Amino acid sequence: MDYQQILAAIQTLPETEQKQLISELTGKVGKREYISNRREKLINKQVGCPHCSSLKFYRFGKDKGSIRFMCKECKRTFTEYSGTWLAGLHKKELVNDYLDLMHEQKSLDKIKEVLHINKKTAFDWRHKILSSFEEVEKKDFNGIIESDETFFLKSDKGSKKLTHKGRKRGGSSSKRGISGDQVAVIVTTDRKGSMDLSVATMGRIGKNDIENAIGSRISSGSILCTDGHVSYKGFAKDVNLTQVVLRADLKQYVKQGIYHIQNVNSLHNRVKKWIDSTFWGVSTKYLQNYMNWFRIEQAFRKSIYAEQDIANCSTEDSLSLNRYRQINYRYQMLIATQS
Ligand SMILES: [Zn+2]
Repeated sequence: MDYQQILAAIQTLPETEQKQLISELTGKVGKREYISNRREKLINKQVGCPHCSSLKFYRFGKDKGSIRFMCKECKRTFTEYSGTWLAGLHKKELVNDYLDLMHEQKSLDKIKEVLHINKKTAFDWRHKILSSFEEVEKKDFNGIIESDETFFLKSDKGSKKLTHKGRKRGGSSSKRGISGDQVAVIVTTDRKGSMDLSVATMGRIGKNDIENAIGSRISSGSILCTDGHVSYKGFAKDVNLTQVVLRADLKQYVKQGIYHIQNVNSLHNRVKKWIDSTFWGVSTKYLQNYMNWFRIEQAFRKSIYAEQDIANCSTEDSLSLNRYRQINYRYQMLIATQS
């Protein structure tokens, strides 16, 4: 076969197999050794001690197949798994396959069947991994920023769609019909693709919720596009940010040809559709984790090594196991905001 024939043959393969082929040829992924990534980073001093962040540590023997390190700064030891979702995890040999199946968004029942693990394990791993994504790939917002909240009905299992309909006529901001049993998610994006989806509160959001979600990540000189919600006005004023208000009730959809909130509203629709069609709704307790999943998939949607990139992200944050353990506590805090 000549080059053209090979190329034509490759183009008949499904997209996932084309990606695998590229990976094989470039050697970047090879045997899908997803979980060795953090070990290499520690050896190369690209990440710090999980206890104190110091880079002054050295190899200190082995521990059940993992490498142990000793920190000169805080005198504590750790392994490449410490603090990550892999710490203390049994059946690590299944992790690569699990991450693949998760990336393909296979159901927990399917994963259980393929990997011969019980559903509880499949569920726990999912949420350990999703907790790991919460603080990674969070870039600053620049230029034109769009932010708007959306609502999910509080649920032990399912979730229902709620739209922005029913806004008070002539009212500048309030969203009528938003009751305390709805979970507000603040969604923010800029035109370069930085994104945030934060489960904020039960019911109406306040300016502090916006501050907590995105306050530290807005670059100076940015312009914030929002609807007429009074909390966004308060937030913009507090942080001294130029705000462009678009009031749908006054048919203000675009101003000066560039200011609008259509990207963020499109994100609302997509995330809801994804939650509804893939999971048939999710429990409020785990809603932030699904928001993390959506965000991380979006962040790497153009990467041909998305599986590898996302898997690497899952071991980047050595506080993620703590975060996973706080899911219940954070849920109780959220519910306590219900009026
Ligand atoms: Zn240390």
